[in-house]
Amino acid sequence: MSRLAIVAAMHDELRAVLQAMPDEVPRVRAGREFWVGHLDGHEVVAVLAGIGKVAAATTATLLITEFQVDRILFTGVAGGLGEHVRVGDVVVADGLTQHDMDASPLFPRFEVPLTGVSRFVPDAALSDVLWRAAQTVLAEAAGAQGEHLDGARLRAFGITAPRGHRGLIISGDRFVSTQNESEALRQALPEALAVEMEGAALAQVCHDFNVPCAVVRTVSDRADDAAHVDFNRFMAEVAAHYSLAIVRRALRLLAA
Ligand code: SAH
Repeated sequence: MSRLAIVAAMHDELRAVLQAMPDEVPRVRAGREFWVGHLDGHEVVAVLAGIGKVAAATTATLLITEFQVDRILFTGVAGGLGEHVRVGDVVVADGLTQHDMDASPLFPRFEVPLTGVSRFVPDAALSDVLWRAAQTVLAEAAGAQGEHLDGARLRAFGITAPRGHRGLIISGDRFVSTQNESEALRQALPEALAVEMEGAALAQVCHDFNVPCAVVRTVSDRADDAAHVDFNRFMAEVAAHYSLAIVRRALRLLAA
């Protein structure tokens, strides 16, 4: 039977997933609790990676080498960068770039030196599953009350017509929280839909180990001058519901 890892950076992103696991047992490695158990009958390992690229890389390495997971799914929040990417939207990665990697002029900007890679590509099948899961959950939420994601809760929060996007997600060791900075990222990487702090590091480790991974992010803020306020509110009130809704739906698709 296959073993799927469900990873998030922070507790608010994974809280609901952990609550929905009936039998999880913690195993501590490198200061992290790896919750081994089941979610809706699937064998899973859920873990909080912590924040940033190194934390994500350590966690992914342990999941692969010590917990023998054969797929990794990262769920969490991100800042919206694409003009049309709004708070409450969902972004599924079809490429992941480390926006703070820059060994130029020795290597092209954004390329991880000596790998020739500047854009890590997540697993197509797993990303498709996340994409279909996100579409379903968003469509449900737009209706009266979703089976997985409660549209009324979103509307109370001010999210009325959340949309899905698929494309480039960029990662770096910075919480992007000024208009100037997000504008600079848009200039440098015009395709980028969202910015966060872990995805591209996880993808690099998965690339090295040849383990399929996929990344889904809900947009908590616009990576602008109001980002810190929007982020905190979103984390407290909405983030966990998105994660559980999308992960549950994805698991159902994987079983089908
Ligand atoms: N204030 C938080 C730190 C948040 S860092 C604390 O004290 O714990 C932001 C986290 O959310 C990271 O895990 C990152 O992946 C994601 N994220 C959301 N919005 C972001 C943004 N605008 N820029 C970078 N990362 C963002």
